[in-house]
Amino acid sequence: VAEPHAERTNSMGANLANDDQLRALAEQVNAAATGPWRATPLVPGASVSGPDIAVTNPADRRQTVGQWQAADGATVDRALHNAVAAQPAWDRTPAASRAAILEHAADLMEQRMPQYIALCTREAGKTIPDGVAEVREAVDFLRYYAGQARQQFTVDALPGPTGESNTLQLAGRGVFVCISPWNFPLAIFSGQIAAALAAGNAVIAKPAEQTNLIGYHAIKLMHEAGVPEAVLQFVPGDGATVGAALTADPRVAGVAFTGSTDTARAINRALAARDAAIGVLIAETGGQNALIADSSALPEQLVKDALASAFTSAGQRCSAARVLFVQEDIADKVIGMLAGAMAELTVGDPGLLSTDVGPVIDTDAKCLLDEHAQRMQGAARLIAEAQLGPGTEHGTFFAPRAWELQSLSQLTRENFGPALHVIRWKATELDQVIDAINDTGYGLTLGIHSRIDETIERIVARANVGNVYVNRNQIGAVVGVQPFGGQKLSGTGPKAGGPHYLPRFATEKTVSINT
Ligand code: GLU
Repeated sequence: VAEPHAERTNSMGANLANDDQLRALAEQVNAAATGPWRATPLVPGASVSGPDIAVTNPADRRQTVGQWQAADGATVDRALHNAVAAQPAWDRTPAASRAAILEHAADLMEQRMPQYIALCTREAGKTIPDGVAEVREAVDFLRYYAGQARQQFTVDALPGPTGESNTLQLAGRGVFVCISPWNFPLAIFSGQIAAALAAGNAVIAKPAEQTNLIGYHAIKLMHEAGVPEAVLQFVPGDGATVGAALTADPRVAGVAFTGSTDTARAINRALAARDAAIGVLIAETGGQNALIADSSALPEQLVKDALASAFTSAGQRCSAARVLFVQEDIADKVIGMLAGAMAELTVGDPGLLSTDVGPVIDTDAKCLLDEHAQRMQGAARLIAEAQLGPGTEHGTFFAPRAWELQSLSQLTRENFGPALHVIRWKATELDQVIDAINDTGYGLTLGIHSRIDETIERIVARANVGNVYVNRNQIGAVVGVQPFGGQKLSGTGPKAGGPHYLPRFATEKTVSINT
């Protein structure tokens, strides 16, 4: 039985409130932007895969920041073969030893924060504060799941009322495929992998096609920390070929996925269709997240939090606020202040400290947002459109916008970018507002701004969502503090960064010995 590990604390990251420290960090980040970077499959015994594919900077598409190579069919097959062979020894490695390796990886990543921020800025268009948050969260996930493995992967003695000795033990399920999103290319990527490894699984990691360079460098670091190369393999490629081949393969025990609801459904179908053990799917998907403000909300605080919730990370968070329901008594005031605040947003180069909103990830993302803006013309009232800064014409930028709508039914899909919608409601309509939010079918985050306890309690009780935030912004869930994940169309659970996540990556064995 392992000793409980010393109290874990979250990574300190960097002090963003201290201008001198921030400037020094920005200099380190620029110095670390040493590209061009390169990512290739990391699969022992496989020969080189497909042709080089260029990675361009979302903030300036003329800049190539690196190259990557997709895994071909033979590489995928080899990775599965290696993983199956390597997993039992990793599973037999004591959980405390696996945890120590992950903690070493966390230390290395924390020490190399500027390099990883540089990658996040250049490949994913993240601002420097977002880059800091990204590295911190990755470090937190590594340490958190290491600590959870120490605590949970013990042999638990159960009651033996008839004189038998009964124990419950956890072990790895086998080979896990981790398919991660481009919007948290280091944090969610590392989190899925850390959990699967901590639980004793071999991992095949397939990042989103847009962020292979970051994924590759995270895997190299984990190998350096001591994870065996056949236990953690990097298999980049697109979802339709590499992702589909992995999830259809009977050698895979489970999939951890963050991305769209449609892809989660496709993975679920692929796992179910195999003539193999029943695969497990842990999915974190989209949202149509609302923020409800009643007339007791403090307008300044509400606008600040709405802005942060809707436009941080260029709105490219599953948790981001998409719809602000504001009670009519304060609506004009709030809408006026929102327009004023949006006029102050700096949209531009994510490498500059003055930038609030960077680019969206790629041309497809920008096209979808442009289409949405077209749809809104005539159907909604434009409240504000932020100014694009100088130099944005070469990147995939979408000017943050807010529209006033009549009803939530005007939004037929999640708009993954800096697009906020405002709907007024009357005092008698609170339950209808909550029902409309529930009726979207999604259930990820919900913000509440109110000073009335009964209103807060009523909304919390009635809303079917995963994370509720009251009188604050609704993004940036902290590992171990605000376990994150939704319900219904927003995901299967268990929540990332929470105590129930790790056991889903494990099998349970009950042993009863007649003594
Ligand atoms: N955990 C992130 C947050 O709380 C969102 C994760 C996602 O976008 O997938 O903002």
